[in-house]
Amino acid sequence: MNLYIPDFAGRVITGADSDYDAARAIWNAMHDRRPAAIACCESAADVAAAVRFARAEGLAIAVRGGGHSMPGHSVCDDGLVVDLRGLSGVEVDARARRVVVGGGALLGELDAATQAHGLVVPAGVVSHTGVGGLTLGGGVGRLMRRFGLTVDALLACEVVLADGSIVRASEQEHQDLFWGLRGGGGNFGVVTEFTFACHALAELQILGMFHPLDRAREVLERGRAEMADPDAPDALLWTSFLRKAPPVPWMPDELVGVPGVMSLVEWSGVSGAEGRARLADIRDDLHPTATSLEAIPFLAMQTITDEIFAAGQMTYIKAGFVTELTDAAIDALLAQAATVGSPLSQIEVLAMGGAIARVDADATAFPHRDAAWLLNVPAMWTDPADTEAEVAWTRESYRLLEPHMTGGTYVNFMAGDEAADSTGAHARTRARLEEVKAAYDPDNVFRLNQNITPARAGAAG
Ligand code: FAD
Repeated sequence: MNLYIPDFAGRVITGADSDYDAARAIWNAMHDRRPAAIACCESAADVAAAVRFARAEGLAIAVRGGGHSMPGHSVCDDGLVVDLRGLSGVEVDARARRVVVGGGALLGELDAATQAHGLVVPAGVVSHTGVGGLTLGGGVGRLMRRFGLTVDALLACEVVLADGSIVRASEQEHQDLFWGLRGGGGNFGVVTEFTFACHALAELQILGMFHPLDRAREVLERGRAEMADPDAPDALLWTSFLRKAPPVPWMPDELVGVPGVMSLVEWSGVSGAEGRARLADIRDDLHPTATSLEAIPFLAMQTITDEIFAAGQMTYIKAGFVTELTDAAIDALLAQAATVGSPLSQIEVLAMGGAIARVDADATAFPHRDAAWLLNVPAMWTDPADTEAEVAWTRESYRLLEPHMTGGTYVNFMAGDEAADSTGAHARTRARLEEVKAAYDPDNVFRLNQNITPARAGAAG
């Protein structure tokens, strides 16, 4: 096969190169795929050249940013990987509170550059995740109730389209494309540059708690009450993880491995003292078996679980939203919590609301604005012999939780084997995504993602 890419300035890695295996590896070790070539792009022009070449040669295109796609969309057999890792620049304009980020940058690179100026972009919680995939799916994280989803901070994108042209998308230019890029995944083109608005923040107050399983109902009910309070501050975020106690620094050795609920209650408000008092009240009421209450610099918090989530593990995920955490939903959560197998697997109960809910459901391609909680079931394991059991456990957990969910799911927490519809009851969002897809990628060139097939006839789908 011809692997000379005209007008391409970067390196092309093939099976003949000694670093081929390292270059094709992605975070989720479940996916061992062998692309024909990996095009290591250095610029938007390189991305355009790679896209044109793949189309001319009839090669499938996998777009790779941080490589954290859980269904493994960023690597493919026989096709071309458009590798964006070389596009990792981050430039902060502190005065304008804006940052321009390369399409292949990692969250850690974004956080380090913005924190140097006391600024943040609300994004995910593990620093080796890619800005690209995370942003295009929506972007949930510890600052989402205070500052919104990652897409809510997005101001503009530079995008290489399926025909190799390079355009800008924003509220002023290609508005329909800009709408789709804010929650529709990697369907519409390759984003070579993101521009975000930043917010000021340096430190968080963090309450960590562990309770054994027989106290989990009480903990979930307290989280529900805190977050359902109409006066709940945006700065307060409740997350509970139904899992075996992990070896975090504040967990006594004898508790590690005990099934229960670990909760992180985070305060991102301006007044640390106010937050600490509020978190101390929660702790004192709930008498955790193990606990910690600390002020933690934002940058330190953003890397605290990097090792727990190190690359090379296997993962399978299912998720959905609830508008209310009903007693019946809590019953289902607790029933499954008792069956967690791997010490890395967990059921996550993530509070939403706050700033997320103040954006109109039609304003971006992330329509689940009325969700109160995101219920996420990521199984994680290291021994391939456990794959069948862990996948089955995730599916069973989801089957039990699904009746309580609103329908649809979070694009970035899709397994890849569900019906390709994250929008659920939001039919308007679905129809508009199909229209944008038809306008910008009618031949479905960008189909290795949470795919939306073009609505019109003539689509390659
Ligand atoms: P990649 O595998 O490189 O890309 C995934 C897909 O995104 C690609 O197939 C492509 O379709 C698209 N894509 C990536 N970059 C571009 C680009 N520049 N232009 C066009 N398309 C692109 N999600 C959250 O919301 N919050 C979290 O806190 C969070 N934490 C996570 C922690 C871990 C350890 C993992 C594994 C995942 C986490 N996720 C989180 C999910 C994550 O958002 C998705 O897996 C996301 O797709 C990862 O983006 P990436 O660039 O690293 O992945």
